[in-house]
Amino acid sequence: MNINEILSHHGEDRKKYFNSIAPPIIQASNFVFDNLDDFRSAFVDELENHIYSRGNNPTVKILRKKIAALEGTEDALVLGSGASAIAAAVIGNVKAGDHIVCVEAPYGWTHKLLTIFLERFGVSHTFVDGRSMSEIENAIQANTKVLYLESPNSITFDCQDLRACSQLAKSKGITTIIDNSYASPIYQKPAQFGIDIMVHSASKYLSGHSDVVAGVICANKEMIQKIFKSEYMTLGTILSPNDAALVIRGLRTLPLRLERSFQTATEIVARLEKHPAVERVLFPFSKSFPQYDLATSQMSGAGGLFSVILKAKDIQEMENFVHRLQRFLLAVSWGGYESLVMPFCAFYNVPGRENSTVPWNLVRFYIGLEEVDYLWEDISDALAEIGGS
Ligand SMILES: *Cc1c(COP(=O)(O)O)cnc(C)c1O
Repeated sequence: MNINEILSHHGEDRKKYFNSIAPPIIQASNFVFDNLDDFRSAFVDELENHIYSRGNNPTVKILRKKIAALEGTEDALVLGSGASAIAAAVIGNVKAGDHIVCVEAPYGWTHKLLTIFLERFGVSHTFVDGRSMSEIENAIQANTKVLYLESPNSITFDCQDLRACSQLAKSKGITTIIDNSYASPIYQKPAQFGIDIMVHSASKYLSGHSDVVAGVICANKEMIQKIFKSEYMTLGTILSPNDAALVIRGLRTLPLRLERSFQTATEIVARLEKHPAVERVLFPFSKSFPQYDLATSQMSGAGGLFSVILKAKDIQEMENFVHRLQRFLLAVSWGGYESLVMPFCAFYNVPGRENSTVPWNLVRFYIGLEEVDYLWEDISDALAEIGGS
């Protein structure tokens, strides 16, 4: 379906609500029936019919339709967070005694889902370097049911070969799940390569304004029905109609925002790569990226997220650099209008916590919608704090 059609019209039916341009926020928990026959038949499909908002809400449904169309899947579910979308998608495809192959160092709460939560229920896992198809293949056991991918991940941007992963998994009856938050459906559509389930943190690009926490699951109808009837309805981590309306609003400008962030990030990466205080930049669409060929063969763009390894002599220099930045906000998350910095020296020497496995001289930048020179002025100022420059 045409992207303009999806973002501006698909899933909406303005005649149903007084020809209002923007869809109404149906702030209702339950829906009324005229008679018992209608009431009975509604239960045939709780995902499509209007009974109770834990199952289906008209505002949320508009969002579901747009998201599914964006990813090119038959259907989608939207949930109260990316973490709950990941949990529902994974749990929905395993039982006690099963095994999961997962890329190493996935998103933090995905890691905890496998290592703490699912371990308690007898589901085991193996973490692999997803850059190597042979490592993935060697980790597969007779009881492997899920291959979990993050391509690229959101710190070092390691990629997996999605075509090869899907072929391998299909040949062994394994379900593939990918966290597609980094690329968004604008720049990567894993269903085209045969990946079964796409999950997103919609708190990032899809909503795009740093004011909603939300998640999505995209898959074929059968898979969506399966997850809906068990994990979705049981765990009840739904998105409120209000938040669904905010994500719908965010989607209107999704391609514009991504294009802008991607362009600005590309320019800033090019300037950083020439700077004497910079050891390396990690950005999948930079020619210096080790998996550049793979990344550009399966993504049509990269968005605004990249990491920089600085030639700092110690953590103090990194802290000085971060504190000197004025126009990048020190915060987690990404995908909004505002530029952000996440320095990994923050995860060193924290009482009661192990040091991060990510190098202390790595900072992740997220480039928002500001102008390139406004941001570069700030970064180049702050780089004066790094001894190597
Ligand atoms: C933020 C994020 C998540 C978790 O999403 P929430 O909406 O915060 O629950 C999952 N994966 C990636 C790659 C993320 O960046």
